[in-house]
Amino acid sequence: MTYKAVTLKRGKEESLQRFHPWVFSGAIAAADDTIEEGDLVTVYAHDGTLIGNGHSQIGSIAVRMLTFDDTAIDEAFFEQRLNDAYRMRQALGLQREDNNAFRLVHGEGDFLPGLVVDIYGPTAVMQAHSPGMHFARNIIAKALTQLPGVNNVYYKSETTLPYKAHLDPMNDYIIGGMETDEALENGLRFHVDWLKGQKTGFFVDQRENRSLLEHYSKGRRVLNMFCYTGGFSVYALRGGATLVHSVDSSAKAVRLTDDNVALNFAPDDGRHKSFAEDAFKFLDNMEKEAYDLVILDPPAFAKHKSALRNALVGYRRLNAKALEKMPHGSILFTFSCSQAVNKEQFRLAVFSAAAQTRRKVRILHQLTQPADHPINIYHPEGEYLKGLVLYVE
Ligand code: SAH
Repeated sequence: MTYKAVTLKRGKEESLQRFHPWVFSGAIAAADDTIEEGDLVTVYAHDGTLIGNGHSQIGSIAVRMLTFDDTAIDEAFFEQRLNDAYRMRQALGLQREDNNAFRLVHGEGDFLPGLVVDIYGPTAVMQAHSPGMHFARNIIAKALTQLPGVNNVYYKSETTLPYKAHLDPMNDYIIGGMETDEALENGLRFHVDWLKGQKTGFFVDQRENRSLLEHYSKGRRVLNMFCYTGGFSVYALRGGATLVHSVDSSAKAVRLTDDNVALNFAPDDGRHKSFAEDAFKFLDNMEKEAYDLVILDPPAFAKHKSALRNALVGYRRLNAKALEKMPHGSILFTFSCSQAVNKEQFRLAVFSAAAQTRRKVRILHQLTQPADHPINIYHPEGEYLKGLVLYVE
């Protein structure tokens, strides 16, 4: 099946022949002038060879490739891709009695650029990042409910669709409705607020890193900075922390954290306390040596490449503020989820923080995103989460 034509400049087919899924606007020699944003298009090399089909978009990424042949982008296409994604998550063992929260579709990582789907028990929460996926939302939702255990599809595009596209984004159920807002992660219970929360309501990408933290928590006083829904806090409590303090600048996040702690621990378990405060202020005001396990999981400091320099300064300052007050023998879990910051740059920022505070620091673990956020080998840009676990002396 072919769609409206986009023809590339000579030589610009090379990255696509290596299955990189983006066509940049500067690579296009000619395009059908009836193409509208979100349309399905067929991309041709300069010599007329068909490269594949994709979604068009206005902006620097002009086409997001869905196929590298002439396969039609129809119901059967989405069913197939979603089945493949589901089968991979089954191989990972993520849908279990004690775990029903996981990412089913991670954009390019699942060969579906522009689409994200997280599963919370019987509900799939779906986000379109491209107009093309927005237009396909109903057939995607239908295909989702054909997967085992998925009854409801909530579509959340108000914050993810390009603002300029004037697309009528929506936040609502496409299929089904609210069945339960509770999800299970490694046997721990979490309320997930997909109606109002950030992203799809929960950060499933920290699941394995939270498990690792649990392992280090026994007998430690824990500070969970940028706690959001309190994922790290709940794992630390189960791991036997003697005290857990959760901090987030958003009062709503702090409430969500308190709710999730209450969902998992007895009301007379007095180990947890939360604070609605700015991270930098909290670190400035906190007593020296108050915590011997600290988590720093800030929002992306660099949303774009242009913000890289400031972001690196931000990571250095944040980590230095924590390191300078940590006692001998303490542990720091520090993260960056900025896609524009690579592993080496993040490590250099943390190195600078260590050097500046003159602490003896060793790297215990180098962390990344879990397997349900796969990195398409042809699209290295999909690697975004970086973490270091440091032993501080
Ligand atoms: N660690 C969390 C995810 C963190 S998301 C998890 O595992 O789920 C980042 C959080 O940082 C958001 O909840 C946001 O409200 C909070 N935040 C942003 N800027 C902040 C600041 N200056 N001080 C404290 N919290 C901040």
